[in-house]
This record gives sequence, structure tokens and C-alpha cells, in this order.
Amino acid sequence: MAQEWNIRSRGHECCICNKVFVDGEALTSALREVADTYERYDACTGCWQKSERNWEPFSQWEGCYEEPTRVVKEEPVKKETAETLLRRLVALDDPEMRNVVYVLAVMLERGKQLIERDAKPQEDGTILRVYEHRATGDSFVVLDPRLHLDKIGDVQRQVVELLSGTGHLQDEEPLGS
Ligand SMILES: [Zn+2]
Repeated sequence: MAQEWNIRSRGHECCICNKVFVDGEALTSALREVADTYERYDACTGCWQKSERNWEPFSQWEGCYEEPTRVVKEEPVKKETAETLLRRLVALDDPEMRNVVYVLAVMLERGKQLIERDAKPQEDGTILRVYEHRATGDSFVVLDPRLHLDKIGDVQRQVVELLSGTGHLQDEEPLGS
């Protein structure tokens, strides 16, 4: 899915020797075209140079690993957090959910998980805000609908319901006729 590709993140260990990257370590990243999508590879630069491949990368670059401030992969897989919910809603791209997406982004920014990188005012008075995930470098573009104070309480309740599992998203449980 295109949106999942858009929020794809950097690996945490070498795909060749499985060594966990340390902060500041040089690494080589590559994209390989597979069917209609891309696979991403992150490796120690030495491993990458030594290993033999029978395929040509679509793209390849030298980078530097940054230590995540929070180790995402240790979280229970099924646990819904503000971050997992935001990622799902960004992929879903449902206009009905834009207030929820914005409130989640603000929560994550206050929690220091997201950094606001840019704000682009639109003609209708709303603002497109660009957030970057502090640990992974993933980016999200979120519409700030300029919520009135008297509506924020409702949206926050919706967020709490979705996080606690008492609310559900439209793509998960289609309503019968
Ligand atoms: Zn390696």
C-alpha cells in the first residue's frame, strides 16, 4: 500500500550479520524493487561491501544510524498506542478522522515523539503541519483543522475510545445493511 511505503522506517540491525546498530554508526541503506513495491535493506557498510548480491539496488545511500529514543519493537504487537493509531489513520486517510489525527499528532508532539518541522497555512484557514518522528525519521503530513475549543473535548473522547478499544474504525467493522 502506497501510504505504508510513505511511512516506512529505518532498520535497527544489520540485515546481513544481524548486529544491532549503535548510535552514530555508518550504514548503507538500499531499496530493492520487488513486484509492485520496494524492500528496504540496512546494513553495516563493511558487510554491504563484502556481501555478494545477484540483484542491483533500485537506490542505495550511505547514512548514519540514530539511536531511537524509545525501542518501538519491544512493545506488545497488538497494543494500540497513540502512535500506532496515528500510523493507521494516516494510512487510512479518512476525512472523517482528520480531527482525531490532528489531536493524536499534538499528543505525540507534547510527548516528544514527534517534532513539528513545518507549518503551511491553507487558503481555507486550516494548516498543513509536517511532523517528523524523532526516533525513526518517519514523516507525517497532518491537517490542523483549527478546532474550536468547544469541539476539542469531543475529539479527545473519541481518541480515548479508539485507544481503549471501545471505539472502532470504519475499515475494520463494515456495518451491515
Ligand atoms: Zn553487519
